[in-house]
Amino acid sequence: MGKIAEEMGFNKTKDEKVKAYCAKCVLETNHQVLQSVDCNGSEVVGYYQKMPETIDWSNNYQIIQCCGCDTISFRHRNWCSENQGQIGPDMWDDGSSSQLYPHRSNATRPIHDFYSVPSGLRRIYCEAIECFNGKLPTLCAAGLRAIIEGVCADQNISDGPVEINKKDGSTAVQRKKTLQGKIAGLSEKGILSQQYAAIFHEHRFLGNDAVHELSKPTYKELSLATDIVEHMLESLYEVPQKADDLRGLRLKRSEKLKK
Ligand SMILES: [Zn+2]
Repeated sequence: MGKIAEEMGFNKTKDEKVKAYCAKCVLETNHQVLQSVDCNGSEVVGYYQKMPETIDWSNNYQIIQCCGCDTISFRHRNWCSENQGQIGPDMWDDGSSSQLYPHRSNATRPIHDFYSVPSGLRRIYCEAIECFNGKLPTLCAAGLRAIIEGVCADQNISDGPVEINKKDGSTAVQRKKTLQGKIAGLSEKGILSQQYAAIFHEHRFLGNDAVHELSKPTYKELSLATDIVEHMLESLYEVPQKADDLRGLRLKRSEKLKK
């Protein structure tokens, strides 16, 4: 290993304009660097005609602000001379790559504010979306299953009618306490439409006996399942609360008119 030289500076990239995805604007926008910590390094790896050959790198740790909506976030830009010409999903052809915090791109999902959802379920929902955005599909699927189980517990659903195949080739309906049974129970109570329950059953990571197999779902499957879970939370907890709020406002208004 050759001699390594590193130096750290401040605000060398301050006021620079960079393109970054904004989760609030839901598109890539101009961002201004408000503050930065900037590190440069190099290592001598050999000599050519008595001139040192080096590997160089730089890291810029930037606080950035969206020029559209003023949201402030964090960006880490890394550059290495060895990466020049390599083009990857997160890499530019000058050898630099950048990472945004919180993680976001046009493929990330926003976390909805489900104020009326029970706090335990809301926490699991947030964790599931964090796993989705953090590219942890197995844990995201586990989170979605936990939300379904939690909704069932909250709504006193412990089983549901499941069609089973008998040995003689005929089918019969049995009440089951498995996740599949509970999904059917949600549909039976009208909490989940039959169409949505069928989609859950179709996907192995949510239906049948595959619950314990930890099979890895695709992002498309996960995205669809997350859409359905969000829709279920919205219609079960948020819409009735909004209706209550509206009723309260109407009552207040009519009482004012009477006075
Ligand atoms: Zn923005």
